[in-house]
Amino acid sequence: MFEGLSKRLGDVFDKLRGRGALSEADVDAALREVRTALLEADVALPVVRQFVDEVRPKAIGADVIRSVTPGQMVIKIVNDHLVEMLGGTVADLDLGAIPPVVILMVGLQGSGKTTSSAKIAYRLSQGPQGMAAEMFGGTFSTRRKVLMASLDTRRPAAQHQLKVLGEQTGVPTLPIVPLEMPLAITRRALETAKREGFDVLILDTAGRLSIDEELMKEVADISDLAKPKETLLVADAMTGQDAVNVAKAFNDRLAVTGIVLTRVDGDARGGAALSMRAVTGRPVKLIGVGEKFDALEPFHPDRIASRILG
Ligand code: GDP
Repeated sequence: MFEGLSKRLGDVFDKLRGRGALSEADVDAALREVRTALLEADVALPVVRQFVDEVRPKAIGADVIRSVTPGQMVIKIVNDHLVEMLGGTVADLDLGAIPPVVILMVGLQGSGKTTSSAKIAYRLSQGPQGMAAEMFGGTFSTRRKVLMASLDTRRPAAQHQLKVLGEQTGVPTLPIVPLEMPLAITRRALETAKREGFDVLILDTAGRLSIDEELMKEVADISDLAKPKETLLVADAMTGQDAVNVAKAFNDRLAVTGIVLTRVDGDARGGAALSMRAVTGRPVKLIGVGEKFDALEPFHPDRIASRILG
């Protein structure tokens, strides 16, 4: 773990072996390496700056314990701060409300919103079955009756895509009524969920290519009507710097409660996780690690921290 950063810091600290406390100059030299590592992991620049500013006073004057090198000491301080900034511990979905509990899925088109809706629906309907208990603490400890509905009337194939995923995962979807508008679908979904005794209703909203006002208003109106317990912002881990603008725009407009980071199975080093968390203040709750509907995992801040630091 941390081979990349260890090597960088090793070079910086080679000449400093055996000193008592870390000086300002030592720390700044080390933090320059940390800064590069974070940028290479695609953490957004303002977030990198914030991180370095926060960690600097913690590192300056820190006593180097005899058993470790100054480099290892800095890595520990940096890693601890990174884990803390990522939320510290696993954050569960909060589904504690009178059923049907609504989960609203929002995000850019292509971010993995529909796939993530089906993954969450599948997991909730399966409960702990076939899954290591430590993987999904509270969120998925009981089986729930889940209904999914697509509110994406802009892309003709979107509603059908969710229906197909529903069939594959064994999760019912709201029957499609041609030409019905998003708010009307929301109303019908809520009524159906209530009438038929569903525990959870997952609403998959229209994707957008960029943040535009008309679609933002649409999703805000849906949110006002559906009163979601969870509003999950779905973001692609590969988007790096762009993720920040997207997260900020959605979070300014909606009460985002958590983030689902997708494509964590790809090459991305996970910097988007830190950027998203820092910009919204909301926890990353789940990560997508593949295209299949069981490729969903809880977000472990410590695991992503080591991936970011490399
Ligand atoms: P939406 O437009 O936001 O609803 O995006 P989709 O759910 O249709 O996903 C877009 C593409 O990304 C599809 O081909 C998905 O299979 C793929 N995808 C979604 N999540 C993941 C993930 O976690 N890992 C990988 N490798 N692919 C994903």
